[in-house]
Formats: sequence, structure tokens, C-alpha cells
Amino acid sequence: MLGAGVVGLACARQMAQQGMEVLLIEQTASIGNGVSSRNSEVIHAGIYYTPGSLKARLCVEGKAMLYDYCQEHHIDHARCGKLIVATTPEQEAGLQKLQDQARACGVDDLQWLDAAQAKALEPALNCSAALLSPSTGIVDTHALMLALQGDAENHGAQLVFNTPFVSARVLPGQGFEVQVGGAEAFSLTTTHLINAAGLAAVDAARHIEGLDPSHVPNAYLCKGSYFSLTGRSPFKHLIYPMPNKAGLGVHLTLDLAGQARFGPDTEWVQDENYDMDPQRGQAFYAAVREYWPALPDNSLNPAYSGIRPKIVPAGHAAADFVFSGPANHGIPGLLNLFGIESPGLTACLAIAQHSQQTLAQAD
Ligand SMILES: Cc1cc2nc3c(=O)[nH]c(=O)nc-3n(C[C@H](O)[C@H](O)[C@H](O)COP(=O)(O)OP(=O)(O)OC[C@H]3O[C@@H](n4cnc5c(N)ncnc54)[C@H](O)[C@@H]3O)c2cc1C
Repeated sequence: MLGAGVVGLACARQMAQQGMEVLLIEQTASIGNGVSSRNSEVIHAGIYYTPGSLKARLCVEGKAMLYDYCQEHHIDHARCGKLIVATTPEQEAGLQKLQDQARACGVDDLQWLDAAQAKALEPALNCSAALLSPSTGIVDTHALMLALQGDAENHGAQLVFNTPFVSARVLPGQGFEVQVGGAEAFSLTTTHLINAAGLAAVDAARHIEGLDPSHVPNAYLCKGSYFSLTGRSPFKHLIYPMPNKAGLGVHLTLDLAGQARFGPDTEWVQDENYDMDPQRGQAFYAAVREYWPALPDNSLNPAYSGIRPKIVPAGHAAADFVFSGPANHGIPGLLNLFGIESPGLTACLAIAQHSQQTLAQAD
């Protein structure tokens, strides 16, 4: 298995719990150095996705599993709820569609609020209508990953760091010979190979000899920058504008200490580079003032950025999660996880379960 982000760790836990001998290789020195540590840390309700899609199903299933897991493992989290806001009549129509779509995805707890009801909840908010999602929350992602690592290791999984996957070769019959780099390069054989390398999953799959390249999508990187708010947040709920094609719009999220940040915006990039351009903050003021007109001047500071592992280019509707398993490419024991963007954090436990089922069906 490769990649010690939240998905690879959840998969390692799942497989180890099923009694498999698991070796998880990670190219960096510790867990969670990829997409998993550069996101909004939101437990999504499952509102935005095409009904019947894997994103829709695994988000709703994963949300329930994640809340239970957080409670059982004392992982810091909060079911703080969120408001999705419309500020124009066109957006109200969009909000209505969103509510219908959410219902079709199995999310039936959204509450329609008129402007006065929304303002009663959040006095600083400007909107003509809003949807309240009570099951949206936030989670301490690092604590979650530590718990998953602990669980995996307690069930016998081994994690090795500073150990990049270099390539693999499909062996006759079943199994793989895997070349691993790092200070002490070595090769190993394994019956199953799960590629949970996040932004590098496409590149890793291209280094699997015997896998037809037609089963590997193209990779596109879509960066999102966050700006934090100086001073106290006037909001208790997460506040989201209407979503756009590449993401969920510049929203307000809270961390578990109540500190507010805005983002992520969308910027298609060529390389994995997390440097932040403070100038991007200028566009945030206009976007945020749509729903919070009192945002003070000079109150936003560059915080951090993350990169979405896209498998479709700019201008296309977001792709579904791709579980490319034996039923797709015909290679027993191989599972490539592509395009695990949002809601991959929310869905991690359901993704792990689905990964195991995808491989088990073919064994
Ligand atoms: C801006 C942004 C905001 C988001 N917000 C949310 C949110 O609020 N809620 C939500 O549910 N989801 C959110 N997501 C999505 C979520 O963060 C991801 O779906 C999830 O973290 C993906 O985890 P992962 O384990 O697949 O990838 P990663 O965390 O990137 O893990 C992949 C790992 O593989 C390792 N690796 C790469 N190449 C190799 C190699 N050759 N050999 C060995 N190891 C390798 C990397 O070092 C990394 O540790 C957001 C994503 C972004 C970008």
C-alpha cells in the first residue's frame, strides 16, 4: 500500500483489521504530509454530489462512520453545522436545486431559512435565503490520522517512512514486484497493491509495468489558498456561498479553537507548490463581503494552501472518485485510487471499506 494520508491510513487499518499483512510505504518522514494536512477539515454532509455517485454515497456513509469513530477514539471534532447562503434570486433557485439534490443523495435534514431566520442564527450574515445543514462539522484531521495509524499498527500493519514507491511489475499469476527507493532501496513482492498516493497517484500508476495506460487518467492540479481572519469570528456556523465548477466557493470555516479562515479559491497550477501569493487575498474581500458585508479592511492574512488532485481539467464538472480495480483493468490485487479530492477526508472510512470490497470481489 502506498501513501500515508488519511485515505492510505484508513485503508491500512481496514485491511489489517481483516487479517491481511499490511505494509504501508510513505515517501515523506511522517503521516499526513500531503493533501490531508492542507484542507478545510470539514465533515461534509453530502450535499453537493451527483445522486448515486461514489462521492455522494461514500460521503454520507463516511460522515456517519467518522462521527462514530471520532466519538469512540476521543478525536476532537464539533458538529457545528453550516449555512449555505444565497444572495440573489438566481442563487435562491440554485439553493432550492441543492436541497433537492441533497435529498436525492440521502441528506434530508437540510432546513430552508428565510433571511430573517438566517439572521437570527447569524446576525452578521447578509443573505436572501439559506440552507442550514445541521450534520456538517469539523474535525482535527491530524488527530484522526494518528488514531487511524494507531489502529492499523495495533492490528499488525507496518508503516515505513522516507520510503518512496518507485515502480511495480505485475507478476505472472497474481502479485507484484515493487521497487522502493529511499536511503536503502529494496524490492518486495506483494499479492495486493493499493495506490493511495493522492496527488501522485496518477504518476505512481504510470510506473506499474503491465497496467494498460488507458486505465490511468490524466492528473490536473487545482490549488486553493486560505486566508485567516484577524480577530474573533462573528460566526458560529460554517458559512458557504453557492458552489462553482471547481470547488465550493470561498467559504468561511472555523477551526476547533473558533478561529475563522476563508478559502479555498481556485487556481490551476502545473507543479506542486504551496507558496502563497498575498495578492490573491484582494479577491477574497469582494467574495466574502457578498455574505459578510462588515468584513473589515486589512483583516485577512495568508494562511496556507492545498492542492486538489483533479482528473479532469479546468472548465469540466468535477469527476467522481475513481476506484480502478481488477474489474476495470483486469489485474488481480491492484487498486488505484484516483481523484480523491473533497469529500475524501469525510469519506475516508467508507473509502477504505469500499476499497476492501472492490478488491475482495475480484479475489
Ligand atoms: C483545498 C482542499 C480542501 C479540502 N477540504 C476538504 C474538506 O473540508 N472535507 C473533506 O472531506 N475533504 C476535503 N478535501 C479533500 C481531502 O483533503 C482529500 O480527499 C484527502 O485528504 C485525500 O487523502 P489522501 O490520503 O488520498 O491523499 P494525501 O493526504 O495526499 O496522501 C497521499 C500520500 O501519499 C504519499 N506519496 C505520494 N507519492 C508517493 C510515492 N511515490 N511513494 C510513497 N508515498 C507517496 C504522499 O507523501 C502523501 O503522504 C480538501 C482538499 C483540498 C485540496
